[in-house]
Amino acid sequence: MSTLPETSNRKYDLGFARWVRDNVDGADRMNMCMQCGVCSGSCPLGDQMEHGPRKIFMMVRAGMKEAVLKSNSWRSCVSCYNCVVRCPREVPVKYILQGLGAVALKEGYAEAVETDNTAFAKAFWETASKSGRTDERAVTVRYFYAAGGIGSLMSKGMANMGIAMGLVMAKRMSVFSMPDKIKGRSELKAIMEKAQEIQARHGSGT
Ligand code: SF4
Ligand code: SF4
Repeated sequence: MSTLPETSNRKYDLGFARWVRDNVDGADRMNMCMQCGVCSGSCPLGDQMEHGPRKIFMMVRAGMKEAVLKSNSWRSCVSCYNCVVRCPREVPVKYILQGLGAVALKEGYAEAVETDNTAFAKAFWETASKSGRTDERAVTVRYFYAAGGIGSLMSKGMANMGIAMGLVMAKRMSVFSMPDKIKGRSELKAIMEKAQEIQARHGSGT
């Protein structure tokens, strides 16, 4: 992976677009995008994104490096693949968004714009990577706590008590058992360390 180009003050500087094309998986097909908007129109999370995929691609072309890497678009993606299967030009939209997200994380842009989505993604990842499973209770506690410590945990917990009780009554969540953990968590840890080593060797891991 080559070094991310400096932010340019020139209008329509192609340096960033070329860098994305050469360094983000799938982005070599981004020049096939005809700006039809099918991807953005098909995206169930489109109204949660600061910029839909169509707009992000135009921003990349326009050299808007800072705005692209600070956008919450990739954090909002739920990997439903609507955009991928519907794009008439076979642009791997979702993969490109995720790749841009990996660049944003690696270059420190994502940390600068911490959002609810980031906090939830971190809570999800920390739970899954430590226990090998996601557990609603563990993810929720981490997520609520991240928003503002114990005060946030208590207030958000109380505000969502009705949902929690509904899950308990429907036997979708237990309040008595401990969160599930897989056997062989040391093997999982070894796999993740190896993956990180490969990612570091190959760059952004996009
Ligand atoms: S659906 Fe494909 S061609 Fe249309 S705007 Fe999205 S990426 Fe571009
Ligand atoms: S994969 Fe992501 S970007 Fe594509 S339609 Fe689904 S949520 Fe939207």
